[in-house]
Amino acid sequence: VKASGKDNILTYQDIEDGSHYLQALEMERDLRYALRHDEFELYYQPIVSPKPFQVRGVEALIRWNHPQKGFVSPGIFIPVAEQLGLISDVGRWVLVRAITEIQDYAERFDLFLSVNVSKRQILDGSFLEALEETLATTSFPPHRLHVEITESEVGGNVYELQQFIQALKTIGVKISLDDFGVGTSSLSYLQSLRLDIIKIDQNFVKGIPENKFDRALLEGLYQTFHTLGLDIVTEGVERPEQLAFVLEYSGSLIQGYHYSKPIPMEQLHHYLRKTVITQI
Ligand code: C2E
Ligand code: MG
Ligand code: MG
Ligand code: MG
Repeated sequence: VKASGKDNILTYQDIEDGSHYLQALEMERDLRYALRHDEFELYYQPIVSPKPFQVRGVEALIRWNHPQKGFVSPGIFIPVAEQLGLISDVGRWVLVRAITEIQDYAERFDLFLSVNVSKRQILDGSFLEALEETLATTSFPPHRLHVEITESEVGGNVYELQQFIQALKTIGVKISLDDFGVGTSSLSYLQSLRLDIIKIDQNFVKGIPENKFDRALLEGLYQTFHTLGLDIVTEGVERPEQLAFVLEYSGSLIQGYHYSKPIPMEQLHHYLRKTVITQI
């Protein structure tokens, strides 16, 4: 293959290591375009305390409406954005947009706002930079902001992570450990991180209430985290039987389809108004 122009180089690489490379390049171009042309949107998923029912907060979840490919899941493009070094720009956009959209509601309905942060944003300092800037230019109270760190990412870089958490604590922002149980971190390591909230991954909830082993496991987790003084969010609660189990064994907050899927801002507006009026 003669690599005389850009296209030829691509063809060459394509032979070398499959279509992967082409797709990544294509996505890089598209992600950069998306950032500049407002193709991202935030959905929000309510996080509730079940009894008495109250919406306590919302998690911001990014959505990409690709002009040709349609909806692209964050599970697919976030890891690519991380690899390409675009996550810091995406992350800044998420933070600014979420705070801007939610701040009035947070005040009016007494809510927290949870945002996801990826390892790279922690290590390159871009998240803290964006955070300080955003808090300085808005009146959003830091204590209403929760930063979600994923367990599978916290391993390694222990020192950097501890510094990051310390900085958040100084600002007054809360730290939430996302997807607990997916990673391999030991409990004692996690405890050393001085977390505020632990989010139990939806995999622990799938087999509830049918599976005896899953029931014992989840109950054990609740006991452990209570003992450690952590607030708990149980993710992925879909069915009434699952809700009943969580109610019986914990004071956990709940995030799951049982209450609501992630929804666009306009629907969240209606959800909050409706739930405050009817107190379902
Ligand atoms: P996550 O932070 O653990 O978010 C929860 C995911 O679980 C969301 O998927 C949500 O739609 C889904 N979920 C919530 N309740 C249920 C349920 O009852 N059943 C089931 N089956 N699923 C439920 P989503 O929105 O597709 O996001 C996937 C992941 O992408 C997120 O997982 C997070 O790791 C990442 N992500 C999303 N937005 C951002 C962002 O702004 N920044 C970063 N760095 N990552 C993000
Ligand atoms: Mg999350
Ligand atoms: Mg999660
Ligand atoms: Mg997850």
